[in-house]
Amino acid sequence: MQTFDFDLFVIGGGSGGVRAARMSAQRGARVALAEFAAMGGTCVNVGCIPKKLYSYAAHYGDSFEESHGFGWVGEKPVFDWDLLKANRAREIARLNGIYVQLLDTAGVKIIKGWARLLDEHTVEVDDKKFTAKYILISTGGTATVPAVPGREHVVTSDHMFDLKPFPKRLLVVGGGYIASEFASIFNGLGSEVTQVHRRDMLLTGFDDDVRRFIAAEMSKTGIKLQLGAEVAAIKKTDSGLQVELKGGTSLEVDTVLYATGRVANANGIGLETVGVALNAAGAVQVNDQYQTSVPSIYALGDVTARLQLTPVATGEAMVVVDQLFGPAAGKKPRNMSYEFVPTAVFTHPNIGTVGYSEADARKKFGKVTVFRADFKALKHTLSGSTERTLMKLLVEDATDRVVGLHMVGPDAGEVVQGFAVAMKAGATKAVFDSTIGIHPTVAEEFVTMRDPVKD
Ligand SMILES: Cc1cc2nc3c(=O)[nH]c(=O)nc-3n(C[C@H](O)[C@H](O)[C@H](O)COP(=O)(O)OP(=O)(O)OC[C@H]3O[C@@H](n4cnc5c(N)ncnc54)[C@H](O)[C@@H]3O)c2cc1C
Repeated sequence: MQTFDFDLFVIGGGSGGVRAARMSAQRGARVALAEFAAMGGTCVNVGCIPKKLYSYAAHYGDSFEESHGFGWVGEKPVFDWDLLKANRAREIARLNGIYVQLLDTAGVKIIKGWARLLDEHTVEVDDKKFTAKYILISTGGTATVPAVPGREHVVTSDHMFDLKPFPKRLLVVGGGYIASEFASIFNGLGSEVTQVHRRDMLLTGFDDDVRRFIAAEMSKTGIKLQLGAEVAAIKKTDSGLQVELKGGTSLEVDTVLYATGRVANANGIGLETVGVALNAAGAVQVNDQYQTSVPSIYALGDVTARLQLTPVATGEAMVVVDQLFGPAAGKKPRNMSYEFVPTAVFTHPNIGTVGYSEADARKKFGKVTVFRADFKALKHTLSGSTERTLMKLLVEDATDRVVGLHMVGPDAGEVVQGFAVAMKAGATKAVFDSTIGIHPTVAEEFVTMRDPVKD
């Protein structure tokens, strides 16, 4: 019988890889994990965590303004970008350490360096070879910048957390969630933000009401939104970056952020040597069990470019672990459903969403009843803010099941997480109606919407 150095060799210490390595080791497997950069991957280092910390920072700007209506008087504090950066860096370093510690405690061997496949059971890291019964590719993804003239002057989301100096004038190119979040965050921190997107609405894939509503709310906060617009060229001048838009207009900014797409990290890791198939988008192709075209090699997370979210990567990791090393004692093997995955967009205001958009619900379920509320939250009766909140429910007529729930408003992600549980459990509109609201909250609106929107 062939013997291996390890039962599992994980390439990439991000959300998915760390979870898979740690849980496999806890099931008794001999596990190694290779990571060439800081432990924790995109989410911890240049994604979810620093972004949310900066989003909190940005919200304080509004809160100071809004506090006047509640009797707080005095001068607005001054924002110190270097202090925020230093505090963030300290917290991220702490998290990096925790990830390493979790792996160590579980008995995972951490190998520092760039890993690549040599054959279906062998990985090389800096000239050292390791064999494993199974190999897991969890190398994540990277932001891409299109071939626009002057692309050498632009930055991607990776650079936004440590910009030096603070960009007084920022151009964000893109209309997805990463672009929209950074537009809101830097606007809240005090930049003059322009967001340019080539389509006529932000956030493709989200409910159209949400897309229209958030564009209006973001504009109200001072972001200059230019939809249906594209960058033609970027030139460096003595006073900043001169950006020409197709159609002839131009603007000068200090920083240009491109957040127009991400690609799977599938290059330079020996996939072609071993014959691991990629899909048309260049991501690693896997079956329902996350097995690639080479049976001993698995892949999950952003490198497979399915739903690129941290909880999805960690959920996929649990499926792989259960399958390779058995489920936890007394539990059934897990599986992963991509339906009713809740998600938030940390724009100002936030978006929270679970289930289908109205357009997709109509396609999938036929007749759908829509409930919608658009109102000024109680807080803003005194805050002076003109911010409004949108809440929307989609109900499948045939079953009365709530199949879509969308919110644009304060802490929408926090609100929607709980409703996602109800929707996974198949909650009907009748169940929503029979649920007592918590008063006075914004969230209670979801259980008090009685009158459907007329077709
Ligand atoms: C700006 C931004 C904001 C985001 N915000 C959110 C959010 O709010 N909520 C959310 O759920 N998701 C968010 N995401 C997405 C989330 O970060 C990813 O979905 C998640 O990190 C994917 O995990 P992963 O394990 O697939 O890959 P990653 O976390 O990217 O980890 C891959 C790791 O592999 C390493 N690696 C790559 N190649 C090699 C190699 N050859 N050898 C050794 N190591 C290698 C990399 O250094 C990296 O550490 C955000 C992403 C970005 C960019």
